[in-house]
Amino acid sequence: MTDGTSDGDQPEPFTYDGTQVDPGEAVNDRYRISETYLGDPIRVPVTIINGTHAGPTVFLSAAAHGDELNGIEVVREVAHDWDHADLHGTLVCLPVLNVPGFLAQERYLPIYDRDLNRSFPGHESSTSAKRMAHRLFTSFVEPCDFGLDFHTSTRGRTNMLHVRADTDDPAVKRLSHAFSSNVVIDGSGPSGSLRREATEAGVPTITIEMGKAHRFQRSLIDRALTGVASVLAEVGCHPDSAVHWPGWRTVISDSDEKTWLRADAGGIVDMKRGRGELVHEGDVICTITNPFKEKDDIVPVTAPFTGLIVGVLENPVVYPGNPVCHLVALDDTTLRALEHEIESSLSIFAGGRGRGEE
Ligand SMILES: [Zn+2]
Repeated sequence: MTDGTSDGDQPEPFTYDGTQVDPGEAVNDRYRISETYLGDPIRVPVTIINGTHAGPTVFLSAAAHGDELNGIEVVREVAHDWDHADLHGTLVCLPVLNVPGFLAQERYLPIYDRDLNRSFPGHESSTSAKRMAHRLFTSFVEPCDFGLDFHTSTRGRTNMLHVRADTDDPAVKRLSHAFSSNVVIDGSGPSGSLRREATEAGVPTITIEMGKAHRFQRSLIDRALTGVASVLAEVGCHPDSAVHWPGWRTVISDSDEKTWLRADAGGIVDMKRGRGELVHEGDVICTITNPFKEKDDIVPVTAPFTGLIVGVLENPVVYPGNPVCHLVALDDTTLRALEHEIESSLSIFAGGRGRGEE
């Protein structure tokens, strides 16, 4: 329907590294990207689903950081629980990119703590991380038309579901809107990250941030699945489905007010607010106390402006300088839409938090 494909086009095989997946075929593969100290293969799980109709090729990837699990379940459910009888195009599903990190339940590759998500597009004769990245990138990323890469907050913190995207690129902007997230944080992303390098290589890609490490968080997984379905409708993989509108959307650009509030005292954190909550200027977000809870030694952290808590500390201990809360300002229209949403949800769940996500 879009992107140069039409109902009249013939579906094409998907090929990678000598393997061919024909239209109407689905393949589960364990694809070698490196070797262990014992010389055994390190293999990433990949599922390729090639539809019976022509359409775009989309990759879905997760766990580039090995302890960020929510996206794994998103990718698995898309690959194995969804009905693909009417799929137009091809889905390349990579639930665990960083296999060594996943096995160790660590963010980084446990080989000199390298960050796989700073190693793309990789290189065939460089470091271990870049060789793995190169195998992944050439086989499964470059052949695609679009990409969705799933992450969570770093260990010890959590964030509301949001999209990170370089909205200066029209195709990336289209994906970021189609994903049906309330919050889009604009920016090209760090050098070596999958979304930036894929986008620069002509494969428009967005990152989805959702929740915390080491957990499956069902409500966030369900919202992300809604986002995937919406993107697949937008790009023409499911041309008869509707694109989902999240109710309100704010795009946070570099020039907008946003900040990581940091602790000015070391201590134990009593967090008063949660991710996805609206706070007003001057509201106390948390207090930092000493082991004796001495009243004179309580340090409050207050909101310097009215905004939305996108990310927040969960592990309740800080040194001075540690981040406690990622706060972003909202424009007036978004603020009114959000206040309206809170009012209507409060009238349904009297006494509950405005925006309970779990
Ligand atoms: Zn990550």
